[in-house]
Amino acid sequence: MKKFLSLAGVLSLLAAAPALAAPDSADRPLAIAIHGGAGTIEKSKMTPEREEAYRAKLREALDRGYGVLEQGGSSLDAVIAAINILEDSPLFNAGRGAVYTYDGTHELDASLMDGRTRAAGAVAGVKRVRNPIDLARLVMEDSPFVMLAGEGAEEFARSRGVEMVDNALFDTDHRREQLDKAKKKLQREEAQERDYQAAVEGLPVPFRTGTVGAVALDREGNIAAGTSTGGMTAKRYGRIGDSPVIGAGTFADNNSCAVSATGHGEYFIRYNVAADICARVQYQGRSVNEAAGEVINGVLKPVGGTGGVIVLDAAGNMALVFNTKGMYRGSRSSGQPARIAIFRE
Ligand code: ASP
Repeated sequence: MKKFLSLAGVLSLLAAAPALAAPDSADRPLAIAIHGGAGTIEKSKMTPEREEAYRAKLREALDRGYGVLEQGGSSLDAVIAAINILEDSPLFNAGRGAVYTYDGTHELDASLMDGRTRAAGAVAGVKRVRNPIDLARLVMEDSPFVMLAGEGAEEFARSRGVEMVDNALFDTDHRREQLDKAKKKLQREEAQERDYQAAVEGLPVPFRTGTVGAVALDREGNIAAGTSTGGMTAKRYGRIGDSPVIGAGTFADNNSCAVSATGHGEYFIRYNVAADICARVQYQGRSVNEAAGEVINGVLKPVGGTGGVIVLDAAGNMALVFNTKGMYRGSRSSGQPARIAIFRE
């Protein structure tokens, strides 16, 4: 005669089996990946000193983020800590080193998402906030909204005691040179009666390289993603790219993956890149590497969308994928030592 265990019997057996219990949180994997933008980054055009400066800053950001995770901090804390280092460096197109708009100012965008709850916060077109990723977090945690833009976002920032700076703090000579070159090119094209959009699309990729982002996995098994940028050189009319758009430039859900993107924002918005990658992971059972490759190389590349992504799942699997010549990037996890790279290797 067959014997069936009652539900209560099964539950008591499960409770008594230590091998089936969740691993102690100290044994769970930690992981972080960062990027500092993707584009035509060529070794032949980079001096050894400049390359070293980029590597050192990426390393500092990676170590800071990983240190937060090791101390038991949340994935959100780690993402913010890493991004703050990159925002404060003039090397990257975010915060301090943001590109110039057509009118010679700086307009910054950032977003953040918590994979545990799918809470999210974003800011777009802010001019006076020193670390836009911090403001994105406040929007997420201290407002009933997801995205705030322009003057309203700054009013909210002031009301929450966020550090405000003069827009000129973001001035740098190398970005000014990029603006001068971009404007000359745009004005030449406009004189030939090509429309503004065609002229902007014709701008070489370096005019927007340097967006920064991070994804992280903490001891509790939660993932998070964040992205911060100055956008595109010579942008105009309040143009906003993908970086502050949840689903396009940033996405995180413990059930699928965390993504931070960099690249030609108009394509990343239209192809909903970050959310598409995570949907493939969740509904098609793809690995993060397969899903990122399918979207970046299979979907975006054929239509001319240049850029890359960093992707991480809640088991600690990571993918750093791009269809450009290079992407400033770094990764570290419990099983893997820190790795910094710039070119295709
Ligand atoms: N995605 C950013 C934007 O379009 C720029 C970049 O990542 O290079 O604003």
